[in-house]
Amino acid sequence: MNTISAKFAFIMILTVFAGACEVKSAQDATAAANKNTVKYVFLFIGDGMGDNHKILAEQAFQNGHPGARLFMTRLPVQAKTITLNSGKNITDSAAAGTAIACGVKTANGKLGLDPAGNSVTSIAGIAKQKGMKVGIISTAALNDATPAAFYAHVNARSQFKDIVNDMASSGFDFFGGCKLYLDKEQPSEDDFARKLKAAGYTIFNGKSGLQAVSQAKCYAQTPGYWAIDMKNPDVPTLAEYTIKASEILNNPNGFFIMVEGGKIDHASHGNDSGAMIQELFAFDNAVKSGMEFQQKHPDDTLIVVTADHETGGLMLSEDMQSKKAIILKQKSSYGSILEELKKIKDTEKNFEQAFNLVKDSLGFDGFTASEQSDLKTVWNGDVKDKHKAFLSLAFKIRDLHCGVKWTSGGHSAAQITTSASGKGQELFAGNSENIAIFANLKQLISGCPP
Ligand SMILES: [Zn+2]
Repeated sequence: MNTISAKFAFIMILTVFAGACEVKSAQDATAAANKNTVKYVFLFIGDGMGDNHKILAEQAFQNGHPGARLFMTRLPVQAKTITLNSGKNITDSAAAGTAIACGVKTANGKLGLDPAGNSVTSIAGIAKQKGMKVGIISTAALNDATPAAFYAHVNARSQFKDIVNDMASSGFDFFGGCKLYLDKEQPSEDDFARKLKAAGYTIFNGKSGLQAVSQAKCYAQTPGYWAIDMKNPDVPTLAEYTIKASEILNNPNGFFIMVEGGKIDHASHGNDSGAMIQELFAFDNAVKSGMEFQQKHPDDTLIVVTADHETGGLMLSEDMQSKKAIILKQKSSYGSILEELKKIKDTEKNFEQAFNLVKDSLGFDGFTASEQSDLKTVWNGDVKDKHKAFLSLAFKIRDLHCGVKWTSGGHSAAQITTSASGKGQELFAGNSENIAIFANLKQLISGCPP
């Protein structure tokens, strides 16, 4: 072959390759057959889930279960991920969600938009264009920042009405999670329901509703709940959502399912260690159900587990390492305990009653005499939001007895861990920026190099 024809052949190859790599339409859905692509993709996002959150949950559980591991920490690839936003500042879930979902760093608050305000297509949108079925699941509201990053394009994450418009027009196949946030412009659940129904979605309620789902284009909703408070048998777990979605969406072109543990973040904002651990366990159980699906389809399934950022600046110290299991004795969330506590009038004679309620709810009776006296000072003093101040101090003391300290009520700059297992897992090895998650998934869904 002379130089000119060699060059021509090279151009031909490039052209053919570029053509095959364009994501065109549903007809382009040879994804399943193409050896470069992954047929089934699970992306699990633990909102606010730092490495210490996982270590705390694992160590608490290991007491009584020596050597036990979280499912997500067993995945073969484990790498560090940088979560900072486009301004190199601490991210919120909107900017981080957009980075993971759409592959661009943006400003806090923005969803599905780059810093200049241009719309960017998410990996879920790309999967849909390829003919895959798409599921979006969360323990938070479905129009909260992380799930919305996969389908919405708005300047502010609080534009709940606009986000639901984008949800309705996404064409995605399965939405599952907590009821939608309302906003001033659209203060009624019925308006949202009408909008989704007009777009062809069937709405199901609660666990029995989820069980009844038999085909795609659905929104399976549930009231907001904390895993630690879950006494309502009609509320589905995150794992049950994940299993149902993987059954409903299984088809020859495969699926992309995003599952968010949204309340790991919410519990961490409230520095509620007990509720956080139970949310993390619920999330890890959803990961387990993804792994069980993977065992049945080992050559075709990719599981990625990540977090959007760390919340709470959670610190763990070695001196109380063995006492972490105490946190598992907590019976209900901070919010639920506070509700009960508020029923007790804050008069001096009621201190014992309040103290006993807190001891019983936390399952912790290790307050020293001086800690008890500190609590009494708060209860008998003239502080604002007395019940809250009292309960927060009790939580803080209990945590310190377990070697746990929250340093913030907000997000932190800490790097988080991304884990992966299955086809294409090697792309996730090595430390990277959060936008690499999108790039890797795009490569594995489209079958084309970046
Ligand atoms: Zn948060």
